[in-house]
Amino acid sequence: MRTNKRSVIRLLEQIAVYLELKGENHFKIAAYRRAASALEADGRDLSEISRFTDIPNIGKTTASVIEEFVETGRSTLLEQLKDEVPKGLVPLMQIQGLGARKISRLYRELGITDADSLRKACEEGKVERLKGFGKMTQSNILHALDQLSGKPAYTIGRLLPVLLLIEETLSGNRKIETYSRAGSIRRFEERIEELDYVISTFDPKSVAEDILQMNEVVEAVSIRSLKVTAKLKGEAGLRINFRIAKPDLYALTLILSTGPDAHLEKMQQIAGLHGERLTQSGVKILKTGELLRFPSEASFYHHYGLPYIPPEIRADGSEVETYKGTPFVQLDDIKGDLHMHTVWSDGKDSLEDMVNACRKRGYEYIAITDHSKYLKVAGGLSRERLIRQMNEIRRLNEKYPDILILSGIEMDILPDGTLDFDDDVLSGLDFVIASIHSGFGNSRAQIMKRLHSALFNPHVDMIAHPTGRLIGKRQGYDVDLDLLFQWAKETGTILELSGDPARLDLSAARAREAQAAGVKIAINTDAHATAELGNIAFGVGTARKGWIERKNVVNTYTKEQLLDFLKQKHQH
Ligand SMILES: [Zn+2]
Ligand SMILES: [Zn+2]
Repeated sequence: MRTNKRSVIRLLEQIAVYLELKGENHFKIAAYRRAASALEADGRDLSEISRFTDIPNIGKTTASVIEEFVETGRSTLLEQLKDEVPKGLVPLMQIQGLGARKISRLYRELGITDADSLRKACEEGKVERLKGFGKMTQSNILHALDQLSGKPAYTIGRLLPVLLLIEETLSGNRKIETYSRAGSIRRFEERIEELDYVISTFDPKSVAEDILQMNEVVEAVSIRSLKVTAKLKGEAGLRINFRIAKPDLYALTLILSTGPDAHLEKMQQIAGLHGERLTQSGVKILKTGELLRFPSEASFYHHYGLPYIPPEIRADGSEVETYKGTPFVQLDDIKGDLHMHTVWSDGKDSLEDMVNACRKRGYEYIAITDHSKYLKVAGGLSRERLIRQMNEIRRLNEKYPDILILSGIEMDILPDGTLDFDDDVLSGLDFVIASIHSGFGNSRAQIMKRLHSALFNPHVDMIAHPTGRLIGKRQGYDVDLDLLFQWAKETGTILELSGDPARLDLSAARAREAQAAGVKIAINTDAHATAELGNIAFGVGTARKGWIERKNVVNTYTKEQLLDFLKQKHQH
């Protein structure tokens, strides 16, 4: 039985969570948490540790739990706890703002044992009456429960390989004039429930038959006039719709297939005011029965005196009134990526490979931001290795004068609120990211204390993935975003919009609030390999969905503007 250190740390953390759920005493719980951190902070491999009790903060009891696990791969204590604590409580840990301690109270005080009983208690108003919970918490819980019960989280990132396969086939078909993604993928929704494409061709019948031949990707196809519906192979029956239109109906079909319903209802109302009606075969002038067609989506919106409404912001219909045509940030505007990892920590590619991949993308500048020492499991950099990396970056800057490589770090904000490096180390770096990767169960006050120490440190330039969420998997830590935005504005600290499709953090809605609060944003990839640098497109799509303008995105700045901006922050 080979046990790695990560799994031992996870075991200790799991035991702490179960003890907390069970309502055990505070000291007992803290002992396991402390042991987990102690083990994480100890640089050695499991095989190099002869006696666990020699490590500070690991006591006799904890050591025997670790030893049993290392020897047998099992833990009697954890198994016993799992028997005692209702299984249904564990998934509730994903609900933001709940945490083991509150869940334990729900269990002991209201007899809640799973998501269903929690929902019932919320609906009956029992949760808001508990001390320390309140109306807001109750409504947040209900909202989170809706998300938890959802279908598997298909993200654009996860579906991308399949999309590219489909698009390669469509691009290769000479009968197809043009085609576009539509529906939720075109709107950059976080969760994709169906895939939609619109295809323009003079020969719809024959193109529909060609789609039937794409049997590597799709199955169980049905054709109904101009709509081909299929299921995606191997993706739990995810539906994919191809709508086929003659070129003169393509733009309108694209609008109708992009949706969403509420946006189309609003447009239908506006058409009604003009004595017109949107139909599948054109915009019908009610008086005469004449059908209008449009050469482009823009000409459709202009017909009603509206600016072209970008698909990413089409939503509940209110955008039709509020959008005044402001251009949003575009992929071409991005001049560099300020968050990426190399083999110096947990990246897969060498520093030089990452640099060359970014040169190929035409970037003016990048920041190399490997993990800091606290993240042992990710090979975080010690001070000495960081200095060696800075020398390597200096050498590469000389070798490649066409790109500016900033020496950076993704530094952990530690659970106790201190930062992983001292100011004398940070002051030598060009770009400092601060991140939370641990202690997700912290109270809101503790999370804010940790963020405060990062934002108010003059060397910290950016907070990465500010909420810590993983779409469909983890809600993130309990952060007061309004206060975070206020501090970011006050200190000139950048907040990240991570294009990592598993994160998209800040989300579109939160990024929009950040922009409104006067916060500067950077759209990055957090790439751990050259192949992931392309995720910048997901970041930009999400930013557009959040109405983000180019001027508020620091990595659209020229090299000189960016360096100026960073210099100002450091003088704060
Ligand atoms: Zn990170
Ligand atoms: Zn990172």
